[in-house]
Amino acid sequence: MQATASALGIAALALWCASFVLMLRLRALERAAGGLDRLYWWHHACGAFAYLAVLAHPLALAAQAFDAGGWRAAAAVATPPGEGAAVRAGWLALALLMAMMIATFQVRLAYARWRVVHAVTAPAFVAAIAHAWSFAGPGLRGALASMLAVALGALAWRYALARGWVRAHPYRVARVGHPGQGLLDLDLEPIGAPIGWQPGQFVFVAFREGPGWRGCGEYHPYTIAGRGAGQRMRLLIRSLGDCTAHLQTVRVGVAASVQGPYGAFLAQRDARRPQLWVAGGIGITPFLAALGNETGPAAPIDLVHVHRPGDVPARACLPDLPSALPQQARLLAIETAGDVGDVWAAITARLGALAGRQVFLCGPPALVDALRPRLAAAGVATGDIHSERFDFR
Ligand SMILES: Cc1cc2nc3c(=O)[nH]c(=O)nc-3n(C[C@H](O)[C@H](O)[C@H](O)COP(=O)(O)OP(=O)(O)OC[C@H]3O[C@@H](n4cnc5c(N)ncnc54)[C@H](O)[C@@H]3O)c2cc1C
Repeated sequence: MQATASALGIAALALWCASFVLMLRLRALERAAGGLDRLYWWHHACGAFAYLAVLAHPLALAAQAFDAGGWRAAAAVATPPGEGAAVRAGWLALALLMAMMIATFQVRLAYARWRVVHAVTAPAFVAAIAHAWSFAGPGLRGALASMLAVALGALAWRYALARGWVRAHPYRVARVGHPGQGLLDLDLEPIGAPIGWQPGQFVFVAFREGPGWRGCGEYHPYTIAGRGAGQRMRLLIRSLGDCTAHLQTVRVGVAASVQGPYGAFLAQRDARRPQLWVAGGIGITPFLAALGNETGPAAPIDLVHVHRPGDVPARACLPDLPSALPQQARLLAIETAGDVGDVWAAITARLGALAGRQVFLCGPPALVDALRPRLAAAGVATGDIHSERFDFR
């Protein structure tokens, strides 16, 4: 049992360390995972299994003590004499990790607050290493020191990424439009070398300062909605929270830092096969980029746009779309109060059989998750259903 408890502790630290590396948006790892959302899934999975192993570690020790000396001995595992500081460091790590897991998976905190709570994982990890160090022999201490170095390096790199000290490309706002209230249509122009991107990819952008205007300075993800004149990159941004609401007033000339591109949402599209694209609200942006990129003859595309009644920004994405559609594409706009049954009924009534199509879904997780099983039941191969969620936590 002692060996089991030690193995659980070491496994927890190794998984925890891996979860730090997985949040660095490393291109090789993103490619291997099949997109940044998948990479973040692995980050979550490693974090969750690390947490379970941390929880199981004292339980295994208590079980061993119970075998040897009953309840009193099991309870004494929590505060063994002579090892107070080391054990307290272990409990601190567990408590901080627990708070972070609850904030991520149980409570729907505002994104900015969630990020602050998420950051407690750094001191928690250091406390866990301090705890393990006190009980480790020289061989294991080498492994612990390596894990600490990797984790601190990853945290430092992640901090530099969030601040824009690394991998940031300078751009400026070159055009601003307001197709409807709460929706911003802008072009970003590179100041140096432009980034290369493919339809379906997104970038992290931090809007900074310009004539009479100051952005919130945080990086947020936005899908590239198309190419503007020259090397410009078009973004459509709806007002959703503090940062994007303030952004609606951005002006031409404001500086922006761009990181990316990321994602592989439309990478597996085969233009020779009939397509079904379903966009929820602002989730239309990757499809706009793909439509603007159509060059030669391609198989039919049905683009379904779903929005709620009275959702002005979502509706504002549409007006000039029908005239911009290539010959092989048609649009089905569905207004619904959020009932996916309505969406599904409208899709099947208009399009009939769906088997054999490639399907791409982009929008709120609830819409994407509800459509997947219906598509599979309608005969679409699961490997032909691709999705991107406009939500990262
Ligand atoms: C891959 C991807 C592509 C996106 N593309 C577009 C797009 O083309 N156009 C568009 O209008 N919106 C897009 N979004 C959503 C956009 O990123 C959020 O609306 C924006 O970040 C909200 O920030 P806020 O401060 O205004 O709102 P907040 O109140 O801070 O957040 C509202 C919600 O936005 C999400 N969010 C906030 N900050 C971040 C962040 N730094 N990283 C990830 N998610 C965050 C969270 O789900 C949060 O609950 C995309 C999101 C993702 C994940």
